Amino acid sequence: MVNDSRIIIHCDLDAFYAAVETLHHGFDEAIPLIIGSDPENGRGRGIVSTCNYAARKFGIRSAMAISEAWRRCPGAPYGSAIYIRGSRGLYSRASRKVMKILKQPAEFFEQASIDEAYLDVTEFVNQDWDAALALCRNLQDEVLESIGLSASFGIAPNRILAKMASEINKPRGIFRILPDELGEFFEGRDIREVPGIGKKRATQLYEWGISTIDELHTYGELSLSRITGERFAAWITRVYEGRTSSEISPLRSRKSIGKETTFNYDRDNYQEVLENLLSIVRRVMKSAREIGVSGRLAEVKIRYTGFETHTHGRSIPVAMNDDEVFTSLAEKLFANNVQTGKKIRLIGFRLGQLDTPTSKQTRLMSIIEEE
Ligand SMILES: [Mg+2]
Repeated sequence: MVNDSRIIIHCDLDAFYAAVETLHHGFDEAIPLIIGSDPENGRGRGIVSTCNYAARKFGIRSAMAISEAWRRCPGAPYGSAIYIRGSRGLYSRASRKVMKILKQPAEFFEQASIDEAYLDVTEFVNQDWDAALALCRNLQDEVLESIGLSASFGIAPNRILAKMASEINKPRGIFRILPDELGEFFEGRDIREVPGIGKKRATQLYEWGISTIDELHTYGELSLSRITGERFAAWITRVYEGRTSSEISPLRSRKSIGKETTFNYDRDNYQEVLENLLSIVRRVMKSAREIGVSGRLAEVKIRYTGFETHTHGRSIPVAMNDDEVFTSLAEKLFANNVQTGKKIRLIGFRLGQLDTPTSKQTRLMSIIEEE
């Protein structure tokens, strides 16, 4: 079994938003940092988006009321905690740099979110699980040294196990689950640690006296299916036996790529709006190429004064990711559909019906073979 399993790495950056802000502003890591809406000296009505580890020590969590966070850790002048709103541009820039590093050793790469990625490194490490461990140490050092961010890694024979493993020694952790150690790994492990088992499902299982994954398995798929339904029972059995997916593909995490701009005042200079649209298209195509996907559907979104919104789309027969193809498509879609006489509030572009550019790879492969 060891020989034919894939070696999947899941990388998850530690308290990513807080870490990026800390780095950018030169904050002290030991001081609680809370990113979210304005606390208004404890009277704020919004919520916490995220926070650093120092704040987590006080029990502050994502989605907690910002007033509750303030009660636990007040900011100036009542306390030393730092409250900020957060800045999206910073995060995507940092993320792009990290992904560039992670992508290098991966035969298949999938960015799952702004701070998470899956890598299939089976070929790169020549199916050697010790080499995979060493690789994670190197990647972890490189991300820390060149970008200043801390990351955790999980190594396992499939996606879900790799994701679970990356949580184990967080922050700055590395944890490996070998294919023949699954039983040992699941023993006594809380069912809530399985991504996909939510609060509701866990409560249901606790009520039946099942709280760990090995208990879940001991129960047996048939008996379990009477409690949870067949689908869940079959799925968790596959998880326990290590038979869930190890396929890493950018298409799993992405259905489309889109960007849009809201103007600071409504525009009726259509040439200017078109130029904005074309620069959005180029940014979308750049993301597509970075992620390693191409698309067949071009969609232009126009929102007029008063929120009236229209999307206009067109498909091409083969998935592509070239600037020229999509700028000219977007230009046509805009010119043919824009309602002159109305002012435009927002313009956007979306690349859909994504695909991996296999044709290009095939072409590249045949070039290499010819040489
Ligand atoms: Mg994270």
